[in-house]
Amino acid sequence: MSLVAGRTLPKRAAMAADACPACGAPEPLALPLRVDPDGQLTLLSCTRCTFIFAAARLDDRARHARTYHLAREAMKDPVRATVNVVGFLTFWAEKLAWPKSLALLDVGCAEGRLLEVARSMGIRAEGIDVSDYYVERWDRARLPATVATAEEFSAGRSGAYDVVVARQVIEHVRDPQSFLNACGSMLAPGGTCLIETGDPSSWQARWQREAWNFWVPKEGVGAHISFINSLAAEFLGRSSGLVLRGSIPQMRYMSLRAYAQKQGRRMFHPISLSKFLLHQSRLSAARCYWYERRAN
Ligand SMILES: [Zn+2]
Repeated sequence: MSLVAGRTLPKRAAMAADACPACGAPEPLALPLRVDPDGQLTLLSCTRCTFIFAAARLDDRARHARTYHLAREAMKDPVRATVNVVGFLTFWAEKLAWPKSLALLDVGCAEGRLLEVARSMGIRAEGIDVSDYYVERWDRARLPATVATAEEFSAGRSGAYDVVVARQVIEHVRDPQSFLNACGSMLAPGGTCLIETGDPSSWQARWQREAWNFWVPKEGVGAHISFINSLAAEFLGRSSGLVLRGSIPQMRYMSLRAYAQKQGRRMFHPISLSKFLLHQSRLSAARCYWYERRAN
């Protein structure tokens, strides 16, 4: 399945036409990687901020319609996904000493699993999603979720939240600068923005090259179109009024049991254990960028 727009741009034309969507620098370089068998996904790399992005990219709504969600749903294990959310929220609640009255926005909330777990922790959580695929589920579960992009939802909500979370979302977004601007604007001064995504500069991504499975997820070619390393994350944050405080490997808040189960292995299988420890280190290919909104 392909979610990439139409034809692949010839590399020269792409380089001439495409400025970096993160910093606006002209003439990004074509990455010498053939990440999908048909060569549909041409990747460009900004020479200034190092942001990597797909040359051809449809509108975010068009790429996350029913076809995308059917593919995503087919591979999600609800129990594992819930355990994953519990790990994420408890890790950050403890690290940042979140108060009981916290107001949180989950951007790209999908079925609303994070909202359900947050609600059970006493957090005032709302969600938004670009797709209306889960509207009935939100209603059934009485979840406060809205169909909107971050940019649309941010209008009139300046400083409304203490925490804005976007887990595995920014890699789907066509304009990450506008996305992060919107997320940052909804934060109260001193508030936290947590952006979880794959790191194209990680050792795993460099070592695996074309085979790194984050370039093309199981949902299809063109689902992921924006790839952000620490430098690009810092650059994007600076333009959004956000200070990058650090980044945390995703495995720091995921249990070994959940990781081994995902791989279809027993908990202390040597391969799972070694990979788990590797992913907990700075070598991890999946991390959560931790931003703080500048105090006014
Ligand atoms: Zn750039």
